[in-house]
Amino acid sequence: MITLEKLTPPREGQRVEVRDGRLHVPDTPIIPFIEGDGTGPDIWRATARVLEAAVKKAYAGRRRIVWFEVFAGEKAHTRFGTWLLDDTLRAFTYYTVGIKGPLTTPIGGGFRSLNVSLRQQLDLYACVRPVRYFEGVPSPVRHPEQVDVVVFRENTEDIYVGYEFAGGSPEAKRLIEFVEREFKWKIREGAGVGLKPMSPFGTKRLVRKAIRYALDHGRRSVTLVHKGNIMKYTEGAFAAWGYEVAREEFGDRTITWAEVEKQHGGKAPPGRLLIQDYIADVTFQHLLTRPRSFDVIATGNLNGDYISDAVAAQVGGIGMAPGGNLSDFHAVFEATHGTAPKYANQDKVNPGSLILSGVMMLEHLGWREAADLIVRGMEATFRRKVMTYDLARLTEGAREVRTSEFAAAVIDAM
Ligand code: NAP
Repeated sequence: MITLEKLTPPREGQRVEVRDGRLHVPDTPIIPFIEGDGTGPDIWRATARVLEAAVKKAYAGRRRIVWFEVFAGEKAHTRFGTWLLDDTLRAFTYYTVGIKGPLTTPIGGGFRSLNVSLRQQLDLYACVRPVRYFEGVPSPVRHPEQVDVVVFRENTEDIYVGYEFAGGSPEAKRLIEFVEREFKWKIREGAGVGLKPMSPFGTKRLVRKAIRYALDHGRRSVTLVHKGNIMKYTEGAFAAWGYEVAREEFGDRTITWAEVEKQHGGKAPPGRLLIQDYIADVTFQHLLTRPRSFDVIATGNLNGDYISDAVAAQVGGIGMAPGGNLSDFHAVFEATHGTAPKYANQDKVNPGSLILSGVMMLEHLGWREAADLIVRGMEATFRRKVMTYDLARLTEGAREVRTSEFAAAVIDAM
């Protein structure tokens, strides 16, 4: 049983559990959620309605989500005087799978970030961002329909670990002196300095997850994206360790590009997942000019940050891009945009990102029928050019609708 100090868990429903190395999902799972700040409540209401309708339709009442509201951000601050309630962390840990809207990042220090706390506590080592095109959605490129990629971004290492010192600080000076003395590395006076750790453990579990996903979802390839031509022992090692996982753990189901060229005349044999690697800068170019070359992408923290946003822009931008932070079983799904506070409580913004994050959550629970219904509903809604302001302003002949109307249209079209 879970013990909470300030919140009361729902009386009905059961927890999603990990037993014998597998996720066990009851028919009435308790799912903790944070509605989020700013426009969060608007898009959360729309999302919950759509998810509930899809589950009801797919399983004729046999399955149902039991929502459990937990708190972080402004609502936590107003109600409980803290930006992040301990109960919230406990609930996400205990119930295994959760979902959240965007949260305000308070200016100034002294608060714990929910995302960082959750990532550390639950070891959510993979940030997963599927990006696909919905017909009818305005896009800045000529063939957005060719974009269908899932980015697996490593979440716990790389330059993002925050091991850095400000230029001129005593710590930076000590570090600079140390590396000069020990390694004869010359660093300019006053430079800020940081460390970029990338390990075989961190890389391999991320690539393993990407390969498993690709195999489970009948994908064609996993591309390891890195900057190994310059940073050999971090970025280059990422690619080398990635290939190692593929060879050692999935050798009978994968094939590398080198093998395809040498043994199969440049054409990947059917039934084998292609493992290839690309330098990061070329990846940006090719994602634009030949997006079909990419399917599942596995990459480090910094590259992944850039790539996920860049590729999301090709299919309609941040109002539409879903995401999830995952460990082997724990998962927290979230809208990838911010709180867009100027539109708060106007029932105006696009709930697409959070709804599609909900789709990812249903897939994670193994409720694929409900997930597919939502995707079909969204496809039909966009084809009819029914869209919120952000997309309507870029689309000729669009019918602009409110957040809640968009949700209703998706439900109608399921
Ligand atoms: P933002 O909230 O993402 O908004 C920037 C602009 O993006 C909006 O003005 C709007 O563009 C567009 N936009 C965002 N969400 C949209 C949606 N659902 N539908 C349609 N358009 C949408 O970024 P921000 O203004 O830089 O950040 C605001 C707050 O959010 C900050 O406190 C920031 O720290 C926080 N934040 C939180 C998260 C998170 O919790 N994961 C992530 C990022 C930022 P137009 O003005 O063109 O209409």
